[in-house]
Amino acid sequence: MIRHVLLDVNIVVDICAQRRPHFANSVKALDWALACNLNVWLYTGSVQTIYFVLLNELRRSVKAGPELVTPTALRAKASSLLATFTRRCCWCSALAEDGNVFGEVDPEDAQLINATNRLGAEACLLTRDQILIDKFSRAVAPAEFLHQVQKAPLPRIPFIDLETQQHVIRLGLERRVDAVLRGGNYILGPEVRELEGKLAEFAGCRHAISCASGTDALLMGLMALGVGPGDAVFAPTFTFVATAEVISLLGARPVFVDIDDQTFNIDPKSLVVAIEKIRALGVHRPRCIIPVDLFGLPADYEALNEVANNFSLTIVEDAAQSFGATWKGYRTCGLGHIAATSFFPAKPLGCYGDGGAVFTDDDDLAQKLLSIRVHGQGMDKYHNVRIGLNGRLDTLQAAVLLEKLEIFPSELVARNRIADEYTTSIAAAKIDVKPPTVPPECTSAWAQYSVLTEHRERFREKLDRQSIPTMIYYPTPLHLQPAFAYLGYGEGDFPVAESVARNIFSLPMHPYLTLSTQKRVIDALLA
Ligand SMILES: *Cc1c(COP(=O)(O)O)cnc(C)c1O
Repeated sequence: MIRHVLLDVNIVVDICAQRRPHFANSVKALDWALACNLNVWLYTGSVQTIYFVLLNELRRSVKAGPELVTPTALRAKASSLLATFTRRCCWCSALAEDGNVFGEVDPEDAQLINATNRLGAEACLLTRDQILIDKFSRAVAPAEFLHQVQKAPLPRIPFIDLETQQHVIRLGLERRVDAVLRGGNYILGPEVRELEGKLAEFAGCRHAISCASGTDALLMGLMALGVGPGDAVFAPTFTFVATAEVISLLGARPVFVDIDDQTFNIDPKSLVVAIEKIRALGVHRPRCIIPVDLFGLPADYEALNEVANNFSLTIVEDAAQSFGATWKGYRTCGLGHIAATSFFPAKPLGCYGDGGAVFTDDDDLAQKLLSIRVHGQGMDKYHNVRIGLNGRLDTLQAAVLLEKLEIFPSELVARNRIADEYTTSIAAAKIDVKPPTVPPECTSAWAQYSVLTEHRERFREKLDRQSIPTMIYYPTPLHLQPAFAYLGYGEGDFPVAESVARNIFSLPMHPYLTLSTQKRVIDALLA
């Protein structure tokens, strides 16, 4: 299966200069590659040769023609042709190792072979150079390439497409990463502070404190609030394990709460029942609520704030999946006393490893969070005033996030457009699939697009046969997880969560899902 095509100089010049007789086949190969959504690459090390050869080609055709063209006009023409052409391609960087090629018979060929190899096992080098084709098994001529791609089956749709996103940000990303490599401030470097400023501004909070993961963000939030043994912390049972894990880690008691059957978020009525039960038992002191903005949709903060006020509880917003979503026009991460988000790669705003951030408007809590992040430091790292963590975000990850944050607003627009398309198509079809609900006061960050059906396995198998992946978030609510068996919950305790866990599944969702690919998903679902 070919997914990446690196263009040799001769192909580019064929097309830009309309060089006959090769033009027809070369342009057809390129058009097919683009139509099949293959990634078309140009090697940055080829720039001079491409420009030089194209200029010569233009000069030759001008000499044969009637009009007189100045050298300046010719150079402008070459530049403009290449500027237009390269807009459709991704740049494949030359790495330092590409200079180490003078032991080779043909240094330029060696560079192209290096570059193709770096693009991975599903890359080919499109060329008309027979010598290159003879010596490199992945070099292929336009005619043979067309033959191969035309008979290829439809590729598997990615569930989340980080690769296309990387192509979009590649230029800035490489510049940012290179700056960190050269700058040498690998821990809490300037990128970390720059990112924190932008995160705080984006979320509309006074403080954003980056950290090593979303789990650490939750943990640090609870630590800053002083949650510990004797405290009860309320959380929905239908969430990722980290939401409740951090409560147990601090020796506090997780108290699970059922979810709303429309939004899948914590149900405020069940929450009140749970709080009153804990108060009546008198063993644990109700301290915090951790609402989760599940799948990117903010929880019901109107009702939650009221409950928090009535019972003097603190809200720690688990916004791991909802960065970028809004509630009554306010961005998530500003909806509780403290909020935690995650930059795990698959989250709406993800880095290339683990990362997270804690948000608050409270200056005092912010100071504590900074201290907790670095081993409970006081005046400096070797003055320790509390028990803390090594919870820092790597400078490299901050650099990645800064680049991703630039395009994040447009990605949110795309996610919403794609979600609307799914919802409209599914709602119009007469099938047993219920699209997700978004209350009018909310927008979702669409971390997942999850639907309910009584025939989950049938739909999932049908989609899988068409090379369309689906996922189940989450097959087991937390109150039924072995890790929480010590809390003594059982089957039937949270009927809504248990029913949703049996019937839910998620469709491919990411900002780079094209209309035609999404149509493949919808057609397969409705078939
Ligand atoms: C992903 C996630 C977390 C944990 O984030 P990590 O960065 O993976 O530690 C916490 N809560 C929820 C709801 C999540 O989805």
